[in-house]
Amino acid sequence: MKAVCWHGANDVRVETVPDPKILNPRDAIVKITSTAICGSDLHLYDGYIPTMEKGDILGHEFMGEVVELGSAVKNIKIGDRVVIPFTISCGNCFFCNRDLWSLCDNSNPNAWIAEKLMGHSPSGLFGYSHMLGGYAGGQAEYARVPFADVGLFKVPDGLEDDQVLFLTDIFPTGYMAAENCDIEPGDTVAVWGCGPVGQFAIRSAYLLGAEQVIAIDRIPERLKMAEEYGKAKVLNYTEVDVGEALKEMTGGRGPDACIDAVGMEAHGTDFMGLFDQVKQTVRLETDRPTALREAIVACRKGGNVSIPGVYGGFIDKVPMGAAMNKALTMKTGQTHVHKYLKPLLEHIQKGDIDPSFVITHQLPLEQAPQGYEIFKHKQDNCIKVVLKP
Ligand code: NAD
Ligand code: ZN
Repeated sequence: MKAVCWHGANDVRVETVPDPKILNPRDAIVKITSTAICGSDLHLYDGYIPTMEKGDILGHEFMGEVVELGSAVKNIKIGDRVVIPFTISCGNCFFCNRDLWSLCDNSNPNAWIAEKLMGHSPSGLFGYSHMLGGYAGGQAEYARVPFADVGLFKVPDGLEDDQVLFLTDIFPTGYMAAENCDIEPGDTVAVWGCGPVGQFAIRSAYLLGAEQVIAIDRIPERLKMAEEYGKAKVLNYTEVDVGEALKEMTGGRGPDACIDAVGMEAHGTDFMGLFDQVKQTVRLETDRPTALREAIVACRKGGNVSIPGVYGGFIDKVPMGAAMNKALTMKTGQTHVHKYLKPLLEHIQKGDIDPSFVITHQLPLEQAPQGYEIFKHKQDNCIKVVLKP
């Protein structure tokens, strides 16, 4: 089959690789019909995430048709159209039983590597390095889905791929980010980053009852989408002092909740060089105000800081003093997609939201290398790229 393979920083190639096979009774093989490039893929493309190997298949936002099933999968049929959470979860462990699916204890055989490198043992993810399980990703014609009995969600008839594809990641991610803000009536929520995740965080903050959402970015088209589709007030951080502007817009108090939907991009640091020598202690220094720092400082006393943005290692200069003395609540994490998928599917079915609004580019799988470049550099007004195998 054809698949998008990682070959180093800024180097992805479409190659012919062996088809995936059923390895365990709870596996399924899915023929992929749509697959997207995520801001998280850019961390791999930028070379920020260690334990990638040349030839690794990328992609964790994908859907398609079930073509083969392991003997233990009884709740799904061959031919079913399915979406697949990007986090791999067993459905039976301490964490899965508490709806903390992205913290599954049984889906990452290489958790010890992450533990050693980063001090944590996350669940497995599709297409996201060996320390996160070494699973082949879904930017390909086929993928193997482990724990398919809990990891495949049947798509109801009448919904297009574009409407449900983002249930795999960015819609639940934006939603969990907003839910982590514990929004109360009248609240103002500020969202750093108007990429796909930020766009869904904005929409979700309103779905959860926010009075006002303020969105921050530097890319005009992304700010425009936040304003027009998201009904957010917008700030271009290259033009205004974000902290001052937020104060002014909130009667001097600061937003009730702040969402960092940026992650590592804001650091502008050479992670590649650092992670080449991952065994050394990694210290990241930068004088640029990062989204996260700005969010902590801007948030009102007693407010909530929600961090869907991905961080891969250690970061310095997080203003812990401000967080502590303002009694902030901070919540973060890879998204518990399995928990949110069905309720968010209902929102789509009811017409509360059509997630396809973020798609600006549809390309054949063969053009994935161009897709990565366009998405990384926000060329051609790009917000989200969907690849069609
Ligand atoms: P993206 O790269 O398309 O968007 C990031 C946006 O942040 C860009 O529009 C950029 O201009 C903006 N930005 C950069 N620095 C900024 C700053 N200092 N202040 C305000 N805006 C700034 O990525 P995306 O797909 O929207 O993903 C966003 C983040 O969410 C990434 O870190 C990604 O890894 C993460 N993510 C997390 C999860 C999860 O489970 N927690 C899932 C998916 C994505
Ligand atoms: Zn993603």
